[in-house]
Amino acid sequence: MNNNTAGSKNIRALLSAIRNMSTDADSINGQEKNEDRLKGEGLLLGKRDYDILQIAIDALNQGYMCDRCLGRLFAKLLHGLSNEQRGKIVRDALALVIESGCEPDLYNGNFQSIIMESTSACTFCLDIFKELIPSLTLEAMAKSRSYEFTSFLVGTRLNSELFKKDIQLNQISPDYSESIKEEVNRTIGKRIELVYQKQVEHKEPDLFFLADLQKNIVSVESKNVYIYGGYKKLARGIPQTTWNCKVCNGRGCKKCKWTGRFYRTSVQHIIEKPILDQLSSAQSSFHGAGREDVDVRCLDYRQFIIEIFNPKKRTVDLERLYREINKSKSVQVSKLKLASKGDIASLKEERCDKTYHAVATFVKDVGESDLLKVFSLKGTLIRQKTPLRVVNRRADIVRERKIRDIEAKKLSARKVDLLIECEAGTYVKELISGDKGRTRPSISEVLDNDVKKIVLDVVKIGGGI
Ligand SMILES: [Zn+2]
Ligand SMILES: [Zn+2]
Repeated sequence: MNNNTAGSKNIRALLSAIRNMSTDADSINGQEKNEDRLKGEGLLLGKRDYDILQIAIDALNQGYMCDRCLGRLFAKLLHGLSNEQRGKIVRDALALVIESGCEPDLYNGNFQSIIMESTSACTFCLDIFKELIPSLTLEAMAKSRSYEFTSFLVGTRLNSELFKKDIQLNQISPDYSESIKEEVNRTIGKRIELVYQKQVEHKEPDLFFLADLQKNIVSVESKNVYIYGGYKKLARGIPQTTWNCKVCNGRGCKKCKWTGRFYRTSVQHIIEKPILDQLSSAQSSFHGAGREDVDVRCLDYRQFIIEIFNPKKRTVDLERLYREINKSKSVQVSKLKLASKGDIASLKEERCDKTYHAVATFVKDVGESDLLKVFSLKGTLIRQKTPLRVVNRRADIVRERKIRDIEAKKLSARKVDLLIECEAGTYVKELISGDKGRTRPSISEVLDNDVKKIVLDVVKIGGGI
């Protein structure tokens, strides 16, 4: 061994010397035998293990590297240590090699910190852990104070420079390294866990922090809350969901009396108001199991899920919600309970038969015997082209729907009272009017009489809630 010859060896030579040291005296055969025996007893490291120091050398030769990034090269090894601890171990090990007299081809700046504080910024993390990350941590904690939460998760968006450095570090140690994102997430997360006694949760955290290193800010968003229930709509002229004013697109203008809404109110608006107040949220989305037209009442409970965005509070007082919503004269709710995002899909898949009550006014008198023709529609399959009133916003298709039952009685010369039970998705107004021949057969067609006016209610929704 001649590793005392100052400046003549690089670290690769040293490592290969260490590897050969114990077996120098042995014959080739003897050496192999000995290695096999030691490996069998778990005492000898394989070649792959020496690569660890080589990885460190490759990285350190790129410039000054902090302990945190040096450790990050081996984040998947030595479970239970922080990356900073891993980095110290590796740097000290290499320092021993240097102290022993070997002067490897290494960027010296990386070992100054053993004697003095390094003055240059880390090549890989650009020193974001010195000031930026602590200040983003404080920002995250300050922002979280207005939220009620038990679990949380931190995510990171890298800027382009850090993104490139991250790829560079991963290429040096593809098997053992982790992304700087993990280090940022953990650094901020550990602090929040410690100070607020909250849990990190990967699947469905109550609160999500995004450390945005492009803008150097932290944004916070809470998990949406979903509330299931059934509603009745007892008045006409109310849409199911809120429509933005067409003039101002929801911002508020003279035309909409600064409400931002096209219709003064909606089922959504009446239901959401006390919920948004209670959960301290600004926005909801309303998912109904089908919908009735603006001018149609719904006298049986229709299922819905209301989704509350970014709520600051998560504790729902259902009793209070009943009291507050049901004060309304036009909308009533029932069976409120907490739901989840997945429930929306099953709600949308529900296909319930429905029963409608209609009062139809015809252009000509309707004879008593004509009503028999209406009964003939019972059990028939009708063909409906997409109604003219919606064809400009929906695909023009033909659908077949079954009319399960139909009853009719005369109220006056031109007024007929109808009770119609039909399959989910039937266009009932068009079943009555014929929609200029686009729905066949229709009540108008069998009566040979045009319809002037229809007043319609949903009276029963099959399946119930
Ligand atoms: Zn670093
Ligand atoms: Zn407006």
